[in-house]
Amino acid sequence: MGLVAVTGSASGIGAAVRARLERDGATVIGVDLRDAEVKADLGRPAERARAVATVEARTGGRLDGLVACAGVGPHVEPWSTIVSVDYFGATAIVGGLRGALAAGGRAAAVAISSNSSTLPDVDSDMVTACLADDETEARRLALEIDPHRVYAGSKLALTRWVRRHAPGPDWAGAGIRLNAVAPGAVLTPLLQGSLDHPVYGPAVRDFPIPTGGFGTPEQIASAVAFLLSPEAAFCCGSVLFVDGGTDALVRPDTY
Ligand code: NAD
Repeated sequence: MGLVAVTGSASGIGAAVRARLERDGATVIGVDLRDAEVKADLGRPAERARAVATVEARTGGRLDGLVACAGVGPHVEPWSTIVSVDYFGATAIVGGLRGALAAGGRAAAVAISSNSSTLPDVDSDMVTACLADDETEARRLALEIDPHRVYAGSKLALTRWVRRHAPGPDWAGAGIRLNAVAPGAVLTPLLQGSLDHPVYGPAVRDFPIPTGGFGTPEQIASAVAFLLSPEAAFCCGSVLFVDGGTDALVRPDTY
């Protein structure tokens, strides 16, 4: 699998992705606030640029894979941070390392979205500001809507960003497969933060999961490993829901 950069590698899904890829023989360069080869706050533009430059320096400008997993949940204050990390942090890293992926040859990138991105009423002016690459406006608009809509909207924008770019000349045309995984509720410190919240806790517990129970980080890591692998050579711009059937239950007739 070669050389793979993983953001959010210190915890939860990112840590499971790291472990899975290393077990499969990859060399992983973790990017996180802590406990990573590259320490950076992806909520801050200057730190994103430094993270990209540091990963490029460590890899000689060639990457075989990239997983944008770092993220914060709806319980974070101030909640404008959510859009800065979950959308602008993710797209800056994926976009910033595109050249290294192109140099890798037959590389693949995976962005971690969320099945919350397909819930009703998630689309908003904040999503539009994200896709216009206007972080100042997106942060301003984020504070006008509730944190859950900021979280789900950031993931909706990230998924649209993936699907807009994946088939284009800079991605598929450059030999890079770009896809997304949309997890459902997976038991990690992020989900625990929501479970401990007085408003979100009951809502998360009541959310139906047809297969029963929360998912595990390892189940998401399996989907990521597949999308990075040559077995997924025909996957481009795909959004792989790994959510115990919640999305199918909520919107069965979308397709
Ligand atoms: P987690 O809290 O266990 O891990 C998130 C990681 O991101 C941590 O290591 C954290 O330090 C890092 N991170 C946070 N802010 C950062 C920043 N500003 N700069 C750099 N790194 C930062 O959470 P998780 O549940 O493993 O979440 C991983 C991804 O999966 C997130 O993008 C999340 O939105 C997504 N997701 C999670 C669930 C779930 O139920 N757990 C569901 C859908 C999507």
